[in-house]
Amino acid sequence: RIVTPLLKNSEDAELEISLRPKTFDEYIGQESVKENLRIFVKAALMRKEPLDHVLLYGPPGLGKTTLAFIIAKEMGVNIRITSGPAIERPGDLAAILTGLGEGDILFIDEIHRLHPSVEEVLYPAMEDFCLDIVIGKGPAAKSIRLNLKPFTLIGATTKAGMLTSPLRDRFGVRCHLEFYKKEELMLIIKRAAEILGVIIDVEAAEKIAECSRGTPRIANRLLRRIRDFAQVKAKGIITREVAEEGLKLLNVDSKGLDQEDRRLLLTIIERFKGGPVGIEALASALNEEVSTIEDIYEPYLLKEGFIIRTARGRMAAEKAYEHLGIKRD
Ligand code: ADP
Repeated sequence: RIVTPLLKNSEDAELEISLRPKTFDEYIGQESVKENLRIFVKAALMRKEPLDHVLLYGPPGLGKTTLAFIIAKEMGVNIRITSGPAIERPGDLAAILTGLGEGDILFIDEIHRLHPSVEEVLYPAMEDFCLDIVIGKGPAAKSIRLNLKPFTLIGATTKAGMLTSPLRDRFGVRCHLEFYKKEELMLIIKRAAEILGVIIDVEAAEKIAECSRGTPRIANRLLRRIRDFAQVKAKGIITREVAEEGLKLLNVDSKGLDQEDRRLLLTIIERFKGGPVGIEALASALNEEVSTIEDIYEPYLLKEGFIIRTARGRMAAEKAYEHLGIKRD
């Protein structure tokens, strides 16, 4: 899927690295989050202390990892990147924590997926910068305390609700990232086009922004694919026509929906008479995982009002019928 907010492949990842803003000034939008973080960073620098632990939450592709890198740069410290599922055992986390330097940042993506036994190790580490290690087994087992250098944990999650409260409470700073407005995405696209060395006119940037589902990752990916198209077909210049034609080839419609979104809406409308339909039934009809529907498809469809979530399940909204050109009986 071209419009998935998840990273698709290594080519995608490389593009992201080249386009990633490196300072708060380059980071477009999320004004209140940025303002808060700027103040906390400044205060920590003045006190010569590490930054408080930060939790960043919001849908994928909105700039959580990017913010973690920016914070590290502004604090002048190193950053170590890992993710919840990658830390399999408490010992893995202990090894990472003991390897951190004074004031360094540990970024844990998908922090809601940490194993409970790993999470236990994290509590004293976050609170008192120490590790409680048990040596030996049975009655002879002994617990020893190991001091760590003060560090900052930046946790990122798409599901803040799935975080346990002891973990959530240990973050002094919590920031919610929102979908981007069209104007902000246009600026992101303009900036990315400059870095990629491609000329794009305002109307084309607007068109791509409208189809980017409020998500910079998708905006950048669409831009790159349309740039390829423009290079072959239009001397490298992205005009409105080029953008429209490119989006059509990529199967992305005027609202940024692709065939998978349309299939989901059609399934609710045709197979389940417009709903309400339970998420399990919908997932099995689409042959998808429940979590894929909840995390990837739904947030944007809900936000844009194509579907409605009720206590009895999902329903197709009027806007879905209109968009697909289907008459409601
Ligand atoms: P997340 O960690 O939330 O999934 P990322 O931080 O990896 O998202 O962001 C994906 C890409 O989107 C980045 O590589 C960057 O190019 C772009 N991006 C994200 N936020 C912004 C922003 N505020 N301004 C400009 N580009 C952004």
